[in-house]
Amino acid sequence: MERRPASAMKILVAEDDDVSRFMTVKAVQALGYECIAAEDGESAWRLYQREGADTVISDWMMPGMDGVELCKRIRRMDDRAYTYFIILTALSEREYRLEGMRAGADDYLAKPLDRDELHLRLIAAQRVTTLHRKLQEQARELERLNREFFESGRVDALTGIANRLRMQEDLRAVAARIERFGDGFSIALFDIDHFKLYNDTLGHVAGDEVLREVARALAGACRSGDTVYRYGGEEFLAILGTPNVELAAIIVDRMRLAVEECGLVHPKSSTAPVVTVSAGVASLLTGGTGTVDDALRRADMALFRAKQQGRNRLVVHDDVDGDAFAVE
Ligand code: GH3
Ligand code: MG
Ligand code: MG
Ligand code: MG
Repeated sequence: MERRPASAMKILVAEDDDVSRFMTVKAVQALGYECIAAEDGESAWRLYQREGADTVISDWMMPGMDGVELCKRIRRMDDRAYTYFIILTALSEREYRLEGMRAGADDYLAKPLDRDELHLRLIAAQRVTTLHRKLQEQARELERLNREFFESGRVDALTGIANRLRMQEDLRAVAARIERFGDGFSIALFDIDHFKLYNDTLGHVAGDEVLREVARALAGACRSGDTVYRYGGEEFLAILGTPNVELAAIIVDRMRLAVEECGLVHPKSSTAPVVTVSAGVASLLTGGTGTVDDALRRADMALFRAKQQGRNRLVVHDDVDGDAFAVE
C-alpha cells in the first residue's frame, strides 16, 4: 500500500442509499479529504483490499455484507496500518451502536449526517491513524535494529565471517538433527602455521590482515551450504554438510590449498615461503552413534597430527579404526 503524508487521509464511504452516499462523499471532500465510495458491503470490502483506506465510514444496514461484517473483516487484516472505522446508524438503530463498537468500530455517526459531527469525528480519526502509523514505523525500525543487532552479534568483527556464538548455535542445531534424524556431517578445524612468528616479524596489524585473507580464502573455497567460523585466535572451524569423509577431505584440502594460493609471504615460516594452514577433519556417519563433541575432539586430534607431521597439510580422523591418517 502506498504511503501517504501524515496530514492526508483517505476515506472509504460504504453506503447503499444513493442520496446518503452522495451527501457523505460531498461532505468528506468538502473537509479536504480524499474519498472513495462503494454502494454495498461486498464492493467496499473489495475496494478496501485493492486500495486501502485510513478511515472507513460505513452504513450499518446494507444488502449482502453489512457494516459490522465489513468492520470485522478489516480488523482481521492486521498486516495493514490501523484503519479507523466509523459506523453510520439511523436514529432508529441506536441499540446497534454497542454491537458495532464490539465488532471493532471506533466511533459511530447518526443519520442523517450532521457535517459538524462528521468534522469532529474525522479530526479524531486523523489523530488516531497518524499515531498508529507512527507507532507502526517505530515498531518496524525496532525490528530492523533488533535483526541487525542479532546479526552483528554473530559476525566476527575482524574477519566478517561467522563468530563463535553463531558456531555454537549452529553446532547445537546440527546436534539436534543428528539426534532426530541421524543426519551425518563433517567438522574441519584449521590453524594458521607459525602465526606467532608472523606477528613477531611483520607486526600485529599485518597479522590481522592475514586473518582476514585466510577467512576469505577458506569461506570462498568451501561449498555453498557449508559454513566457516572463526573459532578463536588464528583457528577456524568449518561445518560441512557431508558425512562422507573422503568427500570432506577433498573439500577441506581444497580450502587448505586456497590459503596457500593466496601467496601471503611469510618470511620466517620453515614450512613454506607463504602463509599456510594445517587442518584436521572428522566425520559423523549418517545413522552413527557419535556426537558433535566426539567429532570436534577427533578433528582436533587430527589437526594436532597435521602439525606434528609437518604443517600445511590435512589429516583425516578415520572413524572406522579410531586413528588418524594423513592425506598428502
Ligand atoms: P603453529 O604453527 O604451531 O600453529 O604455531 P603458531 O605460532 O601459529 O601458534 P601459537 O598458538 O603459538 O600462536 C598463535 C598466535 O596467533 C599467537 C597470537 O598472537 C596470534 N593471534 C591470535 N589471535 C590474533 C589476532 O586476532 N590477531 C593477530 N594479529 N594475531 C593473533
Ligand atoms: Mg443501508
Ligand atoms: Mg592455534
Ligand atoms: Mg597456529
